[in-house]
Amino acid sequence: VKSNGGANNSVANALINRWNARPYSQRYFDILEKRKTLPVWHQKEEFLQVLKDNQTLILVGETGSGKTTQIPQFVLDAVELETPDKRKKMMIACTQPRRVAAMSVSRRVAEEMDVTIGEEVGYSIRFEDCSSARTVLNLTSGFHRYLTDGMLLREAMTDPLLERYKVIILDEAHERTLATDVLFGLLKEVLKNRPDLKLVVMSATLEAEKFQGYFFGAPLMKVPGRLHPVEIFYTQEPERDYLEAGIRTVVQIHMCEPPGDILVFLTGEEEIEDACRKITKEISNLGDQVGPVKVVPLYSTLPPAMQQKIFEPPPPPLKEGGIPGRKIVVSTNIAETSLTIDGIVYVIDPGFAKQKVYNPRVRVESLLVSPISKASAHQRSGRAGRTQPGKCFRLYTERSFNNDLQPQTYPEILRSNLANTVLTLKKLGIDDLVHFDFMDPPAPETLMRALEVLNYLGALDDDGNLTKLGEIMSEFPLDPQMSKMLVVSPEFNCSNEILSISAMLSDECVLLGCHQQLSSLGSMPPVGMHHRILIPNCFVRPREAQKAADEAKARFGHIDGDHLTLLNVYHAYKQNNEDPSWCYDNFVNHRALKSADNVRQQLVRIMARFNLKQCSTDFNSRDYYVNIRKAMLAGYFMQVAHLERTGHYLTVKDNQVVHLHPSNCLDHKPEWVIYNEYVLTSRNFIRTVTDIRGEWLVDVAPHYYDLSNFPQCEAKRVLEKLYKKREKEKEETRSRR
Ligand code: ADP
Ligand code: MG
Repeated sequence: VKSNGGANNSVANALINRWNARPYSQRYFDILEKRKTLPVWHQKEEFLQVLKDNQTLILVGETGSGKTTQIPQFVLDAVELETPDKRKKMMIACTQPRRVAAMSVSRRVAEEMDVTIGEEVGYSIRFEDCSSARTVLNLTSGFHRYLTDGMLLREAMTDPLLERYKVIILDEAHERTLATDVLFGLLKEVLKNRPDLKLVVMSATLEAEKFQGYFFGAPLMKVPGRLHPVEIFYTQEPERDYLEAGIRTVVQIHMCEPPGDILVFLTGEEEIEDACRKITKEISNLGDQVGPVKVVPLYSTLPPAMQQKIFEPPPPPLKEGGIPGRKIVVSTNIAETSLTIDGIVYVIDPGFAKQKVYNPRVRVESLLVSPISKASAHQRSGRAGRTQPGKCFRLYTERSFNNDLQPQTYPEILRSNLANTVLTLKKLGIDDLVHFDFMDPPAPETLMRALEVLNYLGALDDDGNLTKLGEIMSEFPLDPQMSKMLVVSPEFNCSNEILSISAMLSDECVLLGCHQQLSSLGSMPPVGMHHRILIPNCFVRPREAQKAADEAKARFGHIDGDHLTLLNVYHAYKQNNEDPSWCYDNFVNHRALKSADNVRQQLVRIMARFNLKQCSTDFNSRDYYVNIRKAMLAGYFMQVAHLERTGHYLTVKDNQVVHLHPSNCLDHKPEWVIYNEYVLTSRNFIRTVTDIRGEWLVDVAPHYYDLSNFPQCEAKRVLEKLYKKREKEKEETRSRR
């Protein structure tokens, strides 16, 4: 029998937060009650037992069962993070394919644990690390992190055995992102070398046997879902315009269906913002015959404070006893399995998502709006049945569902440009890529292409070994072309400017490419949509002020090209003290610039680590822009197009017909251009282009412009002349000596 004192003591202990030694807040206990109702709580003991007995375990549970928020906390309670070396503490990592999920979930878990975000619980996404050095070194607290799968992969580059971590949780494994797939192979090796490390693979749906087979027959734990029935409706005829059809369906539900929130799946920021505006307008036109609504967008570049809005309750009735309000969430794929929103009763699924596709023959990777898989459609409808029976409206025919949709989404590794991945793997010391243990090995052609590109860039030597240059390049979280451009920019005396241009191009929104659909569902994007989506995000073009916006953009325009225009925007932003109202007046997106500025600072730090000089050519010098353009070419010499006599552009070597994207700032059609992006639509566009000179190709990248392996084309004949000209010049200087 315990003494009274002991009992009191443990009661008192239960009221003290072991992480910060403060008494728990009332909110902690409120949330705790809710947490205890989540399905994973019923299997907490079982989970911990299986984890104790095994090195690897696979956990499958319906979206919303509490995997992402609860499992890492269970692990934290049960696993000893102390090491024999008392100064070191280990951590728990939980990877998320999506940055929004990493941010949102870590914030939620910090709240559940009653601690401050960035201390005991942190997150880490590309260009943003919200975890504190203080805590990692702090002996009194454990630490756990949500991070994107890409970030964990980067950490492995400096810490190959991932020794900071005691338990690694790979979440959302069914998404099969490129980084997750590479981590699979890598962790299999690490587990052999680190018997103390544990791996938990979590997912909403899995081809369970395939995963078990791959992970040495690891045990599989299933968390039974709590799904209510969801009634599925299809359209009778294919929809011509899924956006318009989606909005119409929202309005109909709001007018005719009983209370319950609505979730609409669309493909990207522009489309979602547009839909939100239209929905709000159409419903407000209905007056007070319908209940109030709260329309909330959700996409990856949304600022965190706005992301939190999806968890707010629907608005109350306008007057007491009136019609209840409704929350309408308009989201990308994020809401499919990464984030669970309670209270959704109606789901609208147009059947599309932005997906990466890669064509190794022409080295083009694009984001295309393409039909989702049956598995995705199933997940989407499931979101309607979390709290009560629900309805899912599929904006395509049942026939389309049965005949046109693939069963599963293809793993990303099979539809990606692998140059970056190969560079990372080389840095990790994996030389034999062909025998690397990929769950689904990529096509040999794709691997060969990647090796070839890295060799042209000088990152790999002819034997495929990482060069000194390649080693530095691998430290930048950027595409190899861009890292190359940065690393060599001091040689062109313009690293300051190249840093700014890289940062402007790396703004997440600009990276997201194009908009086309491989439509088998019969629905076409609304007219004019291509145009809106394709405008780089730093320029704002509101519908009601398009002319003023275009004029504002023209004021930044540089006649030699879009890269230099971006540089002008960045300089003007800094000269105007980063003033948001200046941004507003000039139709520039303040958030995009702020984020570019942040990216720039991170790149500066990496440059400094390798003693890469920060320098500029004198602005009044004639070489100021010439040097910048040459430095860009040093990275992007494989992305060049030549103007043919017929008046159209052909990409060099690949001989693809392309057009300058209408958003370009050039006042002429240059003979040679470099481009940042190849946009596949009904026509092939090259976007973000800059005028360069043919002579520079010969000077900067003679190994690539080696005419002995060049297809016959106009560009080749021009280059031949340029080589002869260079020869002649050399001879002249020689004879003058
Ligand atoms: P799973 O990973 O199994 O899909 P989660 O752990 O993400 O499930 O979600 C468990 C519960 O936590 C859900 O009911 C979800 O709505 C809730 N939740 C998650 N994040 C938040 C948040 N930021 N605010 C409020 N509730 C949240
Ligand atoms: Mg989850």
